[in-house]
Amino acid sequence: MIEYENLRLLNEPFFEEYKRTFSDTLERGWFILGNNVSAFEKDFASYCSSGYCAGLASGLDALILALRCFEFPEGSEVIVPSNTYIATILAVYHNGLVPVLVEPDINTYNIDPLRIEESITSKTRAILVVHLYGKSCDMDPITAIARKYGLKVIEDCAQSHGAKYKGKKTGTFGDFGAFSFYPTKNLGALGDAGAITTDNETLYEKIKALRNYGSRVKYHNEYIGTNSRLDEVQAGFLSIKLNRLDEINAHKRRLAEMYHNGLKSDFIKPVVEPDYFDVYHIYNIRHPERDRLREYLLQNGVKTEIHYPVPPHQQKALEEKFRKSYPISEEIHRTTLSLPVSYCHKEDEIERVIEVLNDF
Ligand SMILES: *Cc1c(COP(=O)(O)O)cnc(C)c1O
Repeated sequence: MIEYENLRLLNEPFFEEYKRTFSDTLERGWFILGNNVSAFEKDFASYCSSGYCAGLASGLDALILALRCFEFPEGSEVIVPSNTYIATILAVYHNGLVPVLVEPDINTYNIDPLRIEESITSKTRAILVVHLYGKSCDMDPITAIARKYGLKVIEDCAQSHGAKYKGKKTGTFGDFGAFSFYPTKNLGALGDAGAITTDNETLYEKIKALRNYGSRVKYHNEYIGTNSRLDEVQAGFLSIKLNRLDEINAHKRRLAEMYHNGLKSDFIKPVVEPDYFDVYHIYNIRHPERDRLREYLLQNGVKTEIHYPVPPHQQKALEEKFRKSYPISEEIHRTTLSLPVSYCHKEDEIERVIEVLNDF
């Protein structure tokens, strides 16, 4: 059986280093906001070529706090892609704001810049883009629209650690990059973790206060903050993995290239364009008979996933709020299938997946 993902195997190359950092942290006896978190923040900011990084408890918190920083009036609108993981949209609601869904480009699966302007109203305050599956959004037109209308830009980089657009890393185009280090992400911790990146020192300082009960100076609280701190143990693990992130991404890119060259054209493959350095958090194909294809793969020893089976606007939690259809997003959700593309997969396994697929 070829698994879709195996977190034990994926992490195995780092076991010895993980044990060392765990033991060091244990001996130091300092578990919250210490040396490990500072070191990781510095290294991750530098990796992204961003001015600052603040470690947080999760990717969702990174999105929530990034939006919270701006103190938009309640009911302000935020442009969000209709084709995303629900966390992006939840972050808007958790701030008392209104998400306005914009359809994706059917070829890239990312927000279609040509559809953004028609959704802007006098209440719009920000564009929250998502670099889905590890491919950057088309950032030039998006930042141009944001500038024209005076909107903030936040990037959901939960799937795009190390991905580039015109040579520049995601998380550096907007006011904030919001990252998740959920274990399956390209840079994954051994539990929940997240971070924001920014070039703006004032915003960075505010995020650091918001994550720590709104406090800059112990027992003095400036904001109605929360507790969303990256912890020392996870930061230690993340620093080790960060050293190998380029290698992890290179491996995933190599497997993606095998699919790209090997799969017959019955399957719609991700587009590959020179301006985009994709890191394939997910390698998806599309096929009109997706469910039958998935069952056939399983019968032939290949496990797959669907990202995602139900679009956010059709989720029970949100269906009352969006009473219209988003046909492009729905088409993607109906036809997409995620193939094995993990750091733990060997090339001969991917050859086997290609062989099975091409016999379908
Ligand atoms: C994983 C993910 C998140 C949420 O990250 P958590 O760390 O699980 O909170 C947000 N947005 C996208 C696009 C994601 O894939």
